[in-house]
Amino acid sequence: IFPVITIDGPSGVGKGTLSRRLAKILGWNLLDSGVIYRVLALAALENKIDINREEKVAVLAEEIQISFINRKNNFFVSFNGKEIKKDIYTETIGNYASKIAVFSKVRKNLLTYQRTFCQCPGLVADGRDMGTVVFPNAELKIFLYASFEERERRRLHQLQKKNFGVNFKFLFSQIRERDVRDYNRQSAPLTPAIDSLILDSTHLSAEEVKSKVLMYIRE
Ligand code: C5P
Repeated sequence: IFPVITIDGPSGVGKGTLSRRLAKILGWNLLDSGVIYRVLALAALENKIDINREEKVAVLAEEIQISFINRKNNFFVSFNGKEIKKDIYTETIGNYASKIAVFSKVRKNLLTYQRTFCQCPGLVADGRDMGTVVFPNAELKIFLYASFEERERRRLHQLQKKNFGVNFKFLFSQIRERDVRDYNRQSAPLTPAIDSLILDSTHLSAEEVKSKVLMYIRE
């Protein structure tokens, strides 16, 4: 049995940056569960599956083959044999992902894949329900929080770095929509696990957040 650290929290809070840095420092594997929902959304669109139909998306969730490739601590994703480029990281796909993430059958069908993901020699799991549903027995659970304005700023910066043209108004409305869906869905709503450490990162740099979490790990 290998140790698992879960990092949950809302969009744009810096979970991805924190998880990648932790995985690198610890030399552990990384599960970016948001990517799974994003790939599934993209696959549904490509296969002309109506993303409002729970049954259809759930079948796709069962069949989909996603693999994460680790090249010198940089994680790449491939789906049905082909490597995915940056298309899944747009805010539009993020929003579609949050629509299909509402369906309990879809969430259920993705559980095995997440739980059997290689945890050796340890795993950093990044998502919304890592500590509450997927890995309830994780050694350390972090719930990362930041004010809405700060999360908007971070997401904007992230998209600009990836060279996506960004329309502010559209971006902010998409994040708001996604928040409402993630916090209020019936199945696995976004909420801190009772045994998680809640870390407010609004006034902390990515480096400071990482140092704090490393301190928790060493305690
Ligand atoms: O984290 P990321 O922004 O890539 O996730 C995209 C969407 O996938 C989220 O808005 C959320 O609705 C969904 N998601 C989820 N559970 C997870 C990870 C992501 O519902 N564990």
